[in-house]
Formats: sequence, structure tokens, C-alpha cells
Amino acid sequence: MTQVWYQNDIQEEVLKQKKIAIIGYGSQGHAHAQNLKESGFDVVVGLRKGKSWDKAVEDGLEVKSVADATRDAQVVMILLPDEHQPSVFEQEVRPNLQRGDALAFAHGFNVHFNQVVPPQDVDVFLVAPKGPGHLVRRTFTEGAGVPSLFGVEQDVTGECTKLALAYAKGIGSGRAGVLETTFQEETETDLFGEQAVLCGGLSSLVKAGFETLTEAGYQPEVAYFECMHELKLIVDLMYEGGLENMRYSISDTAQWGDFVSGKRIVNEDTKSRMKDVLTDIQNGTFAKGWILENQVNRPQFNAINTKENNHQIEQVGRELRELMPFVKQPAKPKKDVVTH
Ligand code: NDP
Ligand code: MG
Ligand code: MG
Repeated sequence: MTQVWYQNDIQEEVLKQKKIAIIGYGSQGHAHAQNLKESGFDVVVGLRKGKSWDKAVEDGLEVKSVADATRDAQVVMILLPDEHQPSVFEQEVRPNLQRGDALAFAHGFNVHFNQVVPPQDVDVFLVAPKGPGHLVRRTFTEGAGVPSLFGVEQDVTGECTKLALAYAKGIGSGRAGVLETTFQEETETDLFGEQAVLCGGLSSLVKAGFETLTEAGYQPEVAYFECMHELKLIVDLMYEGGLENMRYSISDTAQWGDFVSGKRIVNEDTKSRMKDVLTDIQNGTFAKGWILENQVNRPQFNAINTKENNHQIEQVGRELRELMPFVKQPAKPKKDVVTH
């Protein structure tokens, strides 16, 4: 098995001697800043004036402009939305980096696709938690953590691996496991996972199942429970003990149906289309399209988003969840559509 680092395998001294700037205070930013601070590291948050600035101050953190925070720190973690990173980096971060500083990311996209080109004389690493920021924070406060990948892209000081590992430990990932990767592997697998399985594949599967039932005349409410609501229970079982544990809990009828029908839905043909998706990620086609979409202010993104939010499964789901107070409301309202 590949090496997995835990708490006791990781030394913190190299990072303890430095000041860490967390640029951005959103999903990942608030979690990294607070976890690192509570782990005993010296943290400053870099932001523009606005909602996040006020929140970080309220949370008891030292907050400065992006330029000032970068200047103060020796380790600069960029936790802005990926599409905003290149411009903020060029205008406010790059001019304030010093030789021997470390530049860090939580996702390899911008470095791997050359949207951010770090100067040659700084360390460059990534620590990518394999979970949303709110879980990075919540699990930390509960004494646990979210697993992370770390990767070193440039090591000018000879200490970059130690820095990355200490950073991962500081946000709580040493309690869950830290694995080594590269910017390329993290970027390509992250994009593939979210497109083919976690987000794209799953939401398309749920919608197709719902539509199949409603088009056959079944009640949308019943279709919602079958194809969306019950998913969480199944996924929790998989999370806790893999497919075997899920199959142990479901009825034998469900398990037999899983064996005979699953492969009629997702088969070699589906896999060959997954390979096409992976190829588009690897050869930069996906990245190019997404970068261009942002440059023209996201016309397709916004149109598809509106259409998706009005799908019948969403309408019936909203009504049903109103009647199920035990189903927790989303932690925060859906992110505003970014325009720039
Ligand atoms: P968010 O969208 O949550 O980040 C928003 C933050 O960035 C806010 O604090 C916002 O401040 C600030 N911000 C935006 N534009 C600017 C700007 N021009 N100048 C200064 N501050 C700005 O990002 P995420 O946490 O989702 O993502 C951060 C990184 O982490 C990305 O690289 C992402 O790929 C990676 N990642 C994210 C995961 C997740 O769970 N979301 C999981 C793993 C990795 P304001 O309030 O002023 O707008
Ligand atoms: Mg991702
Ligand atoms: Mg059933």
C-alpha cells in the first residue's frame, strides 16, 4: 500500500517558525485559517474589504489586504475561487513574494494548466483536503479530520515536503491520513471524480431515474424518495464499510437487483464515455472551455444552472423537504452567481 502519513509521522517545527497567510475566507479558507491557528500556527488572513473580511475579524483572526498578508507571511496559501486566482495572484501576490517563500494551493488546476506561473525562487506545494471546507472545520472541532493529498511542485529550500506535511497536519488531516500526489494527478483525478462520478455522473443518474419513473406515470413524490432521498442512506453505508457493508444492509432482493441490473445501466459503453471525459481533462480541452466560459461571464453556466434548478425533481424535493424538518437545511444559501 502507498505511504499514508499520520499525526506522529509529521514534524511541525519548520512550519511553526513561519507565518502563514490564508488568502480567501470561503469554504476552505475559514477552515484552514481557524484549524491552523488552533493548532498553534501563526496565521494572517488576506482579503479585500467585504463580507469575508468582517467574518474573519469576528472569528478572531488577524486580517489584512492580500498584498499585506502576503508580504507578512513566508507561506502563502491561495484559497480563492479557482477562476479568480490568476488575476489576484498577478496583481497582489506575486509582487509581494520573497525568495524562499512558499506558495500553496488546495487544488492543482491553475498551476497545472499554467494559469498561475509561480516565480522560480519559491517553494510550491499543494494540500488538497478530500472534502468540503465545512467538513474540514467541523471534523477538526470534533477531534477528527478530513484526509488530504499533498504534492510538491517546486522545492527550492529543500524543506517543501516538510512544510506541506506540517500544513496538512495543522488543518487536521494527520488524524485521517495524508497521501502524496502530484499537481497533475490531483488536478486530473479531482476533475474526473467530480465530473464522472460525484457530481456529474450522480446528478445525471438521479435525474434519469426520476424521469423514467415519472414518465411511466408514477407519482413524482414517490420517485423523489426512491431516486434522491434514499441515496444518503446508501452512501453512508458505502462510506462506513464499502459496497459490502451497503449490500449487507439492503434486502437480498435489492442486492440481486443490484447485481443483475446495475451493469445494464453503467456498462462498458458508459466506461468508454468516462474515458472520453478523462481524455478531455488530460489534454486540456475541459480546462480551456471552462477558462473561456469565465472570460465571457458564464452565459452557459448561468443558463444551465437556472434550468437545472427548475427541474421537476428540484421542485418536488423543495416541497417534500419543507415537510421533513429533520432533513437539515443546507449549511449556507447557494453561492451567488459570480460575475466579473
Ligand atoms: P470560495 O468560493 O469559498 O472562496 C471565496 C473566498 O474568496 C471568499 O472569502 C471571497 O471573499 C474570496 N475572494 C474572492 N475573490 C476575491 C478577490 N478578488 N480578492 C480577495 N478575496 C477574494 O472558494 P473555495 O474554498 O471553494 O475554494 C478555494 C480553493 O480550494 C480552490 O482552489 C478550490 O478548488 C479548492 N478546494 C475547494 C474545496 C471545497 O470544498 N470548496 C475542496 C477542495 C479544494 P469575498 O467575501 O470578499 O468575496
Ligand atoms: Mg474539485
Ligand atoms: Mg427499495
